[in-house]
Amino acid sequence: MHYSFLNLAWQALRGHRDWQPTWRDAAPREQYDIIIVGGGGHGLATAYYLAKEHGIRNIAVVEKGYIGSGNAGRNTTIIRSNYLLPGNEPFYEWSMKLWEGLEQDLNYNAMVSQRGVLNLYHSDAQRDAFARRGNAMILAGADAELLDAKAVRSMLPMLDFDNARFPIKGGLLQRRGGTARHDAVVWGYARGASKRGVDVIQNCEVTGFVREGGRVVGVETTRGRIGAKKVGLAVAGSSSRVAALADMRLPIESHVLQAFVSEAIKPFIPGVVTFGAGHFYISQSDKGGLVFGGDIDGYNSYAQRGNLPTVEDVCEGGMALMPAIGRVRILRSWGGLVDMSMDGSPIMDKTPIDGLYLNAGWCYGGFKATPASGWCFAHLLARDEPHAVAAAYRLDRFETGHIIDEKGQGAQPNLH
Ligand SMILES: Cc1cc2nc3c(=O)[nH]c(=O)nc-3n(C[C@H](O)[C@H](O)[C@H](O)COP(=O)(O)OP(=O)(O)OC[C@H]3O[C@@H](n4cnc5c(N)ncnc54)[C@H](O)[C@@H]3O)c2cc1C
Repeated sequence: MHYSFLNLAWQALRGHRDWQPTWRDAAPREQYDIIIVGGGGHGLATAYYLAKEHGIRNIAVVEKGYIGSGNAGRNTTIIRSNYLLPGNEPFYEWSMKLWEGLEQDLNYNAMVSQRGVLNLYHSDAQRDAFARRGNAMILAGADAELLDAKAVRSMLPMLDFDNARFPIKGGLLQRRGGTARHDAVVWGYARGASKRGVDVIQNCEVTGFVREGGRVVGVETTRGRIGAKKVGLAVAGSSSRVAALADMRLPIESHVLQAFVSEAIKPFIPGVVTFGAGHFYISQSDKGGLVFGGDIDGYNSYAQRGNLPTVEDVCEGGMALMPAIGRVRILRSWGGLVDMSMDGSPIMDKTPIDGLYLNAGWCYGGFKATPASGWCFAHLLARDEPHAVAAAYRLDRFETGHIIDEKGQGAQPNLH
């Protein structure tokens, strides 16, 4: 069913009785060409682009809970392409371009809102690093503007500019960055994939891999065995656990990342703002709630809920940046499981096991990557070769030393 003004008017005249479910909730069949494990944004986008761009439609996406129940439905919805390194920037800029055309492509309102992402700087050294990053972005075809304190003050007068400890000296602004409605992205991709014949199978946990002569030829699930010529993993924070079912040990640690939303208030923050002197970032949802977060919890965990010391740290960061939010009440907080890689960059590659492909290591920044991740993983699965903009995301880079360490933190996953 195509969504349009005419269709809306037609349905209204008929009392809204004929709307169809957004996607088909399918039951597993015996055999597929490709199975994608994980019904988050990345898994569903992969299935969508496999069907749309490569004409492969005999696909299942198997999800252990309901689609979007993982990080896709738990993130703070920020999209941007403000990366520095050549291995990353073209990929994230391609993702940004896909975001810009996504709603027309999917015929679905994903509430993509290019309201700008501003990274604040508080010292001369930080300004120099942001100038370098901005130049690298521009060279890769993205947009970037370096603002001084006066320009930031005119955009965000409520910030604490003259805080003796963290004076705000300016910011790096990407105007094309912003936010998108995370659930709608999941639903839009599920709808687009389902419309093209993909089976979206919920409540179906992968519990093992079927192997023949060393090759993966299917998966064992809580709903029975399902055969496939190829299996792609897109299970984010569960990557190491699912890979262990195939006896693989990944260079990934899982950590909890928390997020918070306040009661709704009048328009206060026009775009996304990140504090440069601590880990705190904030935006305002269309409903009026302030959506914010900070650091990951400092130790490995598979629990989808966080701990109080991080809550305190995030709130302290917020208060240092904009003391006015101290009077706003927090409505909800939650946690998601992020797949932190050893260099802070993702992995998209064939594994050493024939027939098994890996999409993982998105750390706390994989929502913005959703369209390009789906696009490039579909390319890899369909053609058995990496897409040009994802060619650096090799699994063996941790052996060969070709790491993509955006933050220069070394193999310290909780700091990336
Ligand atoms: C609090 C928080 C805030 C974030 N904020 C941002 C942000 O602002 N911007 C940004 O770019 N990124 C952000 N991220 C990161 C981003 O959400 C993730 O990197 C991205 O969503 C991961 O890809 P996904 O959507 O496919 O993952 P998920 O939605 O987690 O999908 C993986 C799916 O695999 C399923 N699964 C796991 N094991 C199995 C199994 N055995 N069998 C079948 N299915 C299985 C899970 O149930 C899950 O649904 C944030 C993350 C969190 C937690």
